[in-house]
Amino acid sequence: MMTTLPTLRVQRRQWLALAAGLCLMPLASARHERRVLFGSTADLLLPEATPASLADDIWRGLQAMNERWNAWKPGDVHLLNQAFAAGRPARATPALRSLIQGAAAMERLSQGHFNPGIGGLVGQWGFHDDVMRPGPRPAAAEIAAWLTAPPSLAQIEWRGLELRSRNPLLRLDFGGYAKGVALDWALDRLQRGGVHDALLNLGGNLAAMGRPGQRPWRVGVRDPQGPGLAATLLTQGREAVVTSGSYERFRVLDGQRCCHILDPRSGRPAPGLVSVTVVHPSAALADAAATALLVAGPEAWRPLAQAMGVDAVLVIDQQGRRQHTAALEGRLDPPV
Ligand code: ADP
Ligand code: MG
Repeated sequence: MMTTLPTLRVQRRQWLALAAGLCLMPLASARHERRVLFGSTADLLLPEATPASLADDIWRGLQAMNERWNAWKPGDVHLLNQAFAAGRPARATPALRSLIQGAAAMERLSQGHFNPGIGGLVGQWGFHDDVMRPGPRPAAAEIAAWLTAPPSLAQIEWRGLELRSRNPLLRLDFGGYAKGVALDWALDRLQRGGVHDALLNLGGNLAAMGRPGQRPWRVGVRDPQGPGLAATLLTQGREAVVTSGSYERFRVLDGQRCCHILDPRSGRPAPGLVSVTVVHPSAALADAAATALLVAGPEAWRPLAQAMGVDAVLVIDQQGRRQHTAALEGRLDPPV
């Protein structure tokens, strides 16, 4: 269900704090539209002169992705997962095939830390739900069973648009990737429509291009330990700023806080890092990488970032300690 809130007009020199607490920017007169999508708030900031039909196109496209690619609500991905469980072949649309093949490439690049075939496990931990209820942890035997035949998108066999999984435990889950793909699609669509200055925020993952006025877009990274910001940075050209965090979507299971990002090697919530922000021209890569680096943890995120070709990374650990790569040196305010 898409909720439409009224378009806001923002005046010059006003500072705008978007709902996710993730984005601050000085704006020249700009159009700001807000909806609820991908289980969270979505904000689109556009030049005032942008045709309404173009903005409508963007919202329609995003809404279609939101509905079709959800892992646990009726839609294309859900149907594929049912076919995998039954050992049946299924048919994908060209768009879905390119999503799956793109995600498979990210799984390989991340050395399996990002695993979009992990949906069965995510469901066992109770994260295929809009509400994060407390409860018991999944039984150790259940996790052990999943680990005996760990799913991978490499187990999918393609014949044209037809696909089947060699592993009946494979369940697609694009929760760690779809928003990145959607961000790239939206900015491409805007550029084709002649808009070169825009910002889109999907639940705290955002992509921007151009500038809203004299100065670049200023975006903020949330402080995992409080309501404020850990840092802000100015975007350069077309750039995505994507954060994976263990502090927002979690369940209290057997009295312990369990985050929604799972380590495919252990079958359990990823310990260690609390927040990983990746800045990169490709939002899809940034999304997959942010999830993968959070799984890799405090000791292993740097070499994995290098292997994945992401050089601008900010991580925050459980003690609130922040580290960043050389590419972000001088770009963060306050300096880390
Ligand atoms: P956010 O949802 O906060 O933007 P992510 O991009 O990291 O964070 O996505 C987390 C979602 O990705 C989870 O809710 C789950 O659906 C899925 N997921 C969990 N663990 C993994 C993993 N190791 N690899 C790929 N996807 C994952
Ligand atoms: Mg992600």
